[in-house]
Amino acid sequence: MPHQTASRDGRDDPTVWDVIVVGAGPGGTTAAALLAGQGFRTLVLEKEQFPREKIGESLLPALMGVLDRLGIEPNDETYVYKRGALFVSESSNRQQAFEFAQALPGCASHAWHVDRARFDTQLRDRARELGADIRHGETVVDAGADENQAWVETRTDRFIGRYLIDASGLSRLLARRKDAVVPYTQFGHCAVFTHFENARTELMAPEFDIRIMLQPEGWGWIIPLPGKRLSVGIVAQRKIDREFLDTTLLAGPTCQELTEGATRLATQVTGNYSYHNTAPSGTRYATTGDAACFIDPVFSSGVTLALRGAADLVDLLMPALRENREAQAGLLADYHVSMNRAYGTFAGLVERFYNTNFAESYFLGTDLGDDLRRGVMSVLAGDVWRHDNTFQDMLLRSRRRRSTKPSSTT
Ligand SMILES: Cc1cc2nc3c(=O)[nH]c(=O)nc-3n(C[C@H](O)[C@H](O)[C@H](O)COP(=O)(O)OP(=O)(O)OC[C@H]3O[C@@H](n4cnc5c(N)ncnc54)[C@H](O)[C@@H]3O)c2cc1C
Repeated sequence: MPHQTASRDGRDDPTVWDVIVVGAGPGGTTAAALLAGQGFRTLVLEKEQFPREKIGESLLPALMGVLDRLGIEPNDETYVYKRGALFVSESSNRQQAFEFAQALPGCASHAWHVDRARFDTQLRDRARELGADIRHGETVVDAGADENQAWVETRTDRFIGRYLIDASGLSRLLARRKDAVVPYTQFGHCAVFTHFENARTELMAPEFDIRIMLQPEGWGWIIPLPGKRLSVGIVAQRKIDREFLDTTLLAGPTCQELTEGATRLATQVTGNYSYHNTAPSGTRYATTGDAACFIDPVFSSGVTLALRGAADLVDLLMPALRENREAQAGLLADYHVSMNRAYGTFAGLVERFYNTNFAESYFLGTDLGDDLRRGVMSVLAGDVWRHDNTFQDMLLRSRRRRSTKPSSTT
């Protein structure tokens, strides 16, 4: 049951939650932790039991401030230090390291690779400590909101709240319900990935950078995880399968060396994930994390966008809840402006990555020069809410030009 506090809008009904959140992934639990920490009666409904496996293990420096704000402490079972990214082309035998410390000033100079099962559980536990009521095994089958209230239905119950946050990830509950899913057709379409135990991750020391493996068709990732585990996957713009992973990335010298003697775990395939949501918020509801937008994972932006987005969203929502104006039109206008800047930057980078020789010239080219390199590094660090990065402005400008063309899909 909700805490018995006097509700701020005169509704003293303890069955009315201040905020109901769908999904206990990083977006949902970040929102819930910040809301509950400020005394808002917050219910989170999550269909899975935790810990649960999840892909998306490489974080960016731009989320470090949110982890600090949540009071999340790194530990050796969950976190591996990440200094930057190493772009590798095995076919041309070229590689180039990018260190976050080389970015424009103002952002953290490192990030983490995480075991997502443990990381998501740690965020969940923190939200609970701060007072959120988080219930597992609760699949939300329908949800909505109007001028008067928000509501959520599970298979057995109906919950009422003053506000609804959809953080259901790629299930994108509200976007589907509102027919608001617009795919980014030009991005990666399919990912095949696996994990190894007892891998030779020590060979990646001391930097533990993520390896972005440029492939003739698409790109691959190699991520060191705690306990000598390795995450390996490949993304292409067409449907691919296990054999494709085995005969491309895993057959290359880097993976062969790192996985020698290691035990391979299950192989998984996922597809058709890149999209944006044309109805990201409305009266008494908002979406955050992947439920709002998902951009091809090549630059590891998903968890960072989920945490930053959730924090920005509740920073606007909390004063509105206190003042009973949470149903106000345009409440989240600033949130959308700032998130669209972030999405647009990554979408611009991904478009170039797939459709031009950008990767070769920027990531494997000889010398970008200090200023350009700092700008590129800031975007790679996820520091995409700033306004003084000429490289980021160039990405946003080129994207605006493309979106005015009639053939654009975004
Ligand atoms: C191949 C691939 C590689 C990736 N690599 C990276 C990476 O390296 N770095 C990175 O930052 N990101 C990466 N991502 C993206 C990252 O995983 C996501 O962006 C991130 O998990 C988003 O968090 P979220 O909280 O929005 O959603 P999720 O983490 O998906 O959480 C949503 C939660 O909602 C629950 N849920 C869904 N529907 C319902 C329902 N109806 N009722 C109740 N609960 C529900 C789900 O069980 C889930 O726990 C990758 C994604 C893919 C596909």
